[in-house]
Amino acid sequence: MSNHNGHNGHSVPPILLTISGFDPSCGAGVGADLKTFSAHGCYGVAAITSITIQNTQGVEAVHNTPSAELKAQLDALAKDSTLEAVKIGMLGNRGNAAAVAEFLDANKFGHIVLDPVMKASSGAELLDAAGIKYVATELLKRASVITPNVPEAETLTGLAIKDMTGMEAAARKLVEMGARAVIVKGGHMEKAVDLLFDGSAMMPLAGDKGKEESLHGTGCTFASAVAAHLAAGRTLLEAATLAKAYVTKAIEKAYPIGKGRVPLDHFYRQKIEPPARGIHEVPQHGMHPAAEPTAH
Ligand code: PLP
Repeated sequence: MSNHNGHNGHSVPPILLTISGFDPSCGAGVGADLKTFSAHGCYGVAAITSITIQNTQGVEAVHNTPSAELKAQLDALAKDSTLEAVKIGMLGNRGNAAAVAEFLDANKFGHIVLDPVMKASSGAELLDAAGIKYVATELLKRASVITPNVPEAETLTGLAIKDMTGMEAAARKLVEMGARAVIVKGGHMEKAVDLLFDGSAMMPLAGDKGKEESLHGTGCTFASAVAAHLAAGRTLLEAATLAKAYVTKAIEKAYPIGKGRVPLDHFYRQKIEPPARGIHEVPQHGMHPAAEPTAH
């Protein structure tokens, strides 16, 4: 983890890259990723794979970024900053998946978290069929960990998953297919137990099913939190456990912003208490001139 001193001696937090789509309602995609990075004390940068037209009620359209432009965004970021971890989400199509693979091959990143996003919870396709095949045969090999939910694990492996035994079989198969480690997310199952497999040990991560309402952006948030904890030097088991706790709490504190699905409260830890005293009682001495009421 680089924590060198930058401008004015301020320490620089880990810089994390998300490669994903833009959801204008910011419940999922790069909006959710950047909020998650910030909530974990990291600086987030983003390369946009797709502009989606969506709100909390669903995805209305998807406009994928031309692959050459995605590649240019990635190269511009990598030549400028040291990126401690990369989180990959929605890719849109095979061309963008291949651009990302090329980028990963040209750079050495310590931590790569791949969330193999295929469909929105509302049903829209977020990765084409050729892209799914490319993720299964090429991209998953390049990741430190992949974080499929049950339907994604079924599509990648061709196995039907009904229970924990099915999740274990899929996790084993994904490692056989080249993944270094897998977290199969059990949010779609009766009990929200996730399963972490690192090629040797199967580690169930217990969870609460919690609120039953329709949520938005849980997968993006979880994978981004895993990336932040890995960048902070934690083990994969610690990162996954802490990320799950963060998502659970962010779900518990979630509030509706529109008429549809509910985004998470990424900043539940940073709630600002109302000032105890009137603003006129705030001490004036030692304040920056720009913050003095009389300066305005
Ligand atoms: N939109 C974008 C840009 C995404 O990256 C994702 C998920 O990864 C979604 C939408 C779907 O989010 P959800 O299934 O939580 O609604």
